[in-house]
Amino acid sequence: MTTFAKEESATETSIRRPPASAPSHHARSLLEIGGRRMPFMRWSFIRLLLSLRRLMRVWQVGDGREERLAGYVVENAREGDLDDVIRAIDEYSYSRSYMINVGDEKGAILDEAVRRARPSQLLELGTYCGYSALRMCRAMPDGARLVSIEFNAANAVIARRILEYAGVSDRVAVLVGTLGDGGLTIASLEAEHGFSAGSLDFVFIDHDKSAYVSDLELILSRGWLHPGSVVVADNVKFPGAPDYRAYLKECQDVRWRTIEHEAHLEYQSLLRDLVLESDYLGG
Ligand code: MG
Repeated sequence: MTTFAKEESATETSIRRPPASAPSHHARSLLEIGGRRMPFMRWSFIRLLLSLRRLMRVWQVGDGREERLAGYVVENAREGDLDDVIRAIDEYSYSRSYMINVGDEKGAILDEAVRRARPSQLLELGTYCGYSALRMCRAMPDGARLVSIEFNAANAVIARRILEYAGVSDRVAVLVGTLGDGGLTIASLEAEHGFSAGSLDFVFIDHDKSAYVSDLELILSRGWLHPGSVVVADNVKFPGAPDYRAYLKECQDVRWRTIEHEAHLEYQSLLRDLVLESDYLGG
């Protein structure tokens, strides 16, 4: 374990180094058991677990990995190339620091849901560094607009920098706040971003797991959804949003029709996770 800790922190402090600093074949084989990547052996994953409570409170791990991600994107991705920026973020998350982006595996489920919904107006709860916003931009129709809400102002700065670099900042607005901040963010969505009765076609929920149900209820109380609106939620199994899962189960085929997608937690293949994709039926 110590070996990997040293190895990964070495790569984190030498981002400019060529691939010679990547894990050796021997190290990589030890990082996998039965073909499964073992995030537990990565120092950056252990570091994240140690600060999980902090992470769930302030949405930064506390070691500067989010800021370094923006630098990595600028140095390693082609400016204005959405695909290449997404690729660079995945590369950083696999090889440098473990990140809590939705990731490539669950990201493909999100992409499909966006393509199916063909939304014009999208809302994301939990921008983090902008990875899922990039994926939604790629999958949504031309002319669609995404508003992404982020609790942490420093993350919002990082996400805006990455979105700008990818050339999509005219299609995404990042707002600092929460839906439950006493009406400030809701007022901004309605006054400045065109949210009104039945206007919202797609929602991606990926923030404070204990706020999934209350924020969905806030959205419903504003009447923004219409029959056919699609709501996708990440991390329903890990770290887990059991009350959200139960909430949707209770009104299956009455108010919501939900599909549960089995997947793995981002950037590894040992811990399992669930992505819920729910069609709003109205009522
Ligand atoms: Mg997530």
